[in-house]
Amino acid sequence: MSDNKILLTAAQAALDYREKLPHLPAGAQASREELLSLVNADLPDDGESPDAAIQMLIKGAERGLASSAGPRYFGFVIGGSTPASVAADWLASAWDQNAQAYSTSPAASVIEEIVAKWLLDLLGLPKESGVGFVTGAQMANFTALTIARNAVLQKQGWDVEADGLQGAPHINVICGECCHATVRSAIRLMGLGVKNVKTVSADSEGRIELGAFNRALAACKGPTIVCAQAGNVNTGAFDVFGPMAASAKERGAWLHIDGAFGLWACASPKLKYLTEHINEADSWAADAHKWLNVPYDSGMVIIRDAALHRNLKTARCVYSASAGPDFRDGSQWVPENSRRARGFVLYAALRNLGRKGVRQIVDNCCEIAQTFATELAKLPHVRVLNRVVLNQVLFRVEPESAIDTDAFNKSVALRIQRNGVCWMGTTQWRGQTALRISVSNWSTTTADAHQSIASVKNAIEQETQSSQ
Ligand SMILES: *Cc1c(COP(=O)(O)O)cnc(C)c1O
Repeated sequence: MSDNKILLTAAQAALDYREKLPHLPAGAQASREELLSLVNADLPDDGESPDAAIQMLIKGAERGLASSAGPRYFGFVIGGSTPASVAADWLASAWDQNAQAYSTSPAASVIEEIVAKWLLDLLGLPKESGVGFVTGAQMANFTALTIARNAVLQKQGWDVEADGLQGAPHINVICGECCHATVRSAIRLMGLGVKNVKTVSADSEGRIELGAFNRALAACKGPTIVCAQAGNVNTGAFDVFGPMAASAKERGAWLHIDGAFGLWACASPKLKYLTEHINEADSWAADAHKWLNVPYDSGMVIIRDAALHRNLKTARCVYSASAGPDFRDGSQWVPENSRRARGFVLYAALRNLGRKGVRQIVDNCCEIAQTFATELAKLPHVRVLNRVVLNQVLFRVEPESAIDTDAFNKSVALRIQRNGVCWMGTTQWRGQTALRISVSNWSTTTADAHQSIASVKNAIEQETQSSQ
C-alpha cells in the first residue's frame, strides 16, 4: 500500500484514544519540562517516514493532552465532540477542500448552504439571515461587529469601506460590564478603540441592567452598536433581550448578541424563557465547537440582513469569479479567504443528532448542572454563587478557619485538578475567587457528576486539614 496507509494508523490511534478517554485523568499528565523534553529537537534535515513522524507526534503529545473531550472536564466552556462529528472532520481533512468558493469545492458550497438553512431553523432565527462559518466566536463577534460598523456608518452616508475610519462619524459602542473579552478584542481589532466603549453595569447574575442600559443608549448620539450576551461564561445568564431590542430599534442602533454557547439554548423549548426576543437582534455569534459538540474550530456568524453580510468583502480574487448569484462562495460571508470545509462536519453532526439530539444535549447538560448545584450546596461551607439557569455553576468554599478564602479556593481547585477525576478551574466573580463548572459535553452523565462531587468533597477536606 502507499503512504496513505498511515491514515489507518492514525485512525487506530484515534480510536484507542477515544475508547480510553472516559477513564483518563481529566487534566494533562506531564509538566511543561517533561513535555518539552519529549518533543524538543533540532529541525531534521532529512524527513522521516509518515509512520515515524506520526508515532513521534503521538509520543510527544499524549502525556500533554487535556481530556477536554471527555465526560468529566468542566473547565472553561469546552464542549466535546461526538464520534460522528470527529469522523466527518477526518473526511473534511482527507478531502482537503478549499471552501473559499463554489468553484473550489462545489460540495462544500452546497453543504454550507443547507447547513446554514438548518441552523436558522434549529435556532429559530430569521430565515433570510446570512450565515458565515468561521473559526470561533472571536471571529464571529469580529465579523458581526464589523458589519454592524459598516451598516451604522452607511446610514449616516459614510462609506467606511472606501473612506476608512479616519474622519468618520463617531460610533458609540455599548457593552455590558460582563461582556466576553473577545467582544472587546473585536472592537480593538476593528479600530474603534476599547476606551470608546460605554460599559453598562450588570446585575448579580451578570446581566446588563436595563435602567443603566437605557440611560447609556439615550446619551448616544449618532451611529450606535449594542452588544448583548446569551450565556455569561461564569453564570450562564442571558441579558433580557426584549426591552433591549425595543430600545435599540427605536434609536436605530444595531443589536449584536454574543451567544457563543448560549445560542444553542434556542434549540430547547424548556429554555424558551431565556431566549425570548433573541431573534429580534441584527446579528448573532455562536460556537459549534462548544455546545453542539463538534471538533475545533467551528464558529458561526449570523446577520439578519444577508445583503449587508454578503458585501462584507468587496474585493475578490480575480481567479475566483462567482459561478452565479445563486451559488454560495463561503469566503464571502467571513474574513478568511482559503478556508477549511467546516460545513461537512456540521452537516454530519446535525444529521446525526437531529433537532431532538441537540435539544437533548442542551437539556441534559442543564440538568446535570442542577445536580451539581444541589449536591455541592449540601457540602459544609460551600456556597453556590449563581442562579443555575443553564449549564454553568459557580461555587465557593468559605470555611471559618480560612485566613485567605480566595487562596483556599485556588488550592482546592489545584487539588481537584491533581486528583484527576474531573477538571475545573477558578474564576473571579464579583471580586472573589470561585470555582467554575461548565457542563457542555454530550457524554457527561449524572454518574460523572456524582463522581466529580465526591472528588470536590475530598479536595475540600484535604485542604481544610492541611491548612489547619
Ligand atoms: C467562548 C466564548 C467566546 C469566544 O469563543 P472562541 O470560540 O474561543 O473564539 C465568546 N463569547 C462567549 C460568551 C464565550 O463563551
